[in-house]
Amino acid sequence: MAKITRVREFGKRLYLTFRVWLLALVGVLVLSVILGTGLMFFIPLTARYALVAFYLLFTEIMAYPLVHLIAGSTGQIVSSFAYNRKHKPKEHYLQNGQHVAKKMNMEYDKPIYLTDNPSVTGPFTNLFSRKIYFPSSTINELHPTEIDATFGHELAHIKYQWKFVRELLLVTLATWAFAILLAYFTIIPMVYAIAQFAFMMLMLSVVMRRNESLADWASGNATTPEALISVLDYFEAKCKGNGSSITHPSFQARKKRLERLFDSDR
Ligand SMILES: [Zn+2]
Repeated sequence: MAKITRVREFGKRLYLTFRVWLLALVGVLVLSVILGTGLMFFIPLTARYALVAFYLLFTEIMAYPLVHLIAGSTGQIVSSFAYNRKHKPKEHYLQNGQHVAKKMNMEYDKPIYLTDNPSVTGPFTNLFSRKIYFPSSTINELHPTEIDATFGHELAHIKYQWKFVRELLLVTLATWAFAILLAYFTIIPMVYAIAQFAFMMLMLSVVMRRNESLADWASGNATTPEALISVLDYFEAKCKGNGSSITHPSFQARKKRLERLFDSDR
């Protein structure tokens, strides 16, 4: 019994690994070209069935984390709304807040907001209200220099907000261009839709993960990379996986990138 559970656990983890997801997406794109176009007629019937089976599997893997991501973030927004109405997040002025902002060439004299909401497991920025939220526990558990580094990362999301929006627009345009190209070759509408979706997700993931790296880099420059690395250690210990997702690079990759800032003069 224990063995079966272990196999199932392993399967679950493998299923959610970012790399597997990425491979599935590339698989969907490649198979879309084979199955959705005239190429299909050159393939023997049995091989065709096998490819269709793989195609369905890859599509399933592609959709799985997305459903979680969308359901998860919608759940968090709704629960935050309900929670914040009863327990207003506390304003908290960071001693070094303005100093960090100045180093990032920004004017920012607003407080951060502390929340005890259990569904908020890490700091985040609401880009619509431009408010930065921290779980209350982080203020007690992190060193002030680590708080500054975390704040710097969130502030960078505000600083590069419009760059991020521009890149999202670019993804939309690229997806359109890809769709026009696809329309030219694809003969099965279903395959067409799935391929278009896979392409958009691939691009979105690249943009979102790059946006996180940029925020790390900006904060590491304005505060210290050492402090931010130790913050990443803190969250890595708290979370079960390696941190790698559609939206974020793994903790390891982020720390490695920050280490490059060690020798630069800031
Ligand atoms: Zn971030």
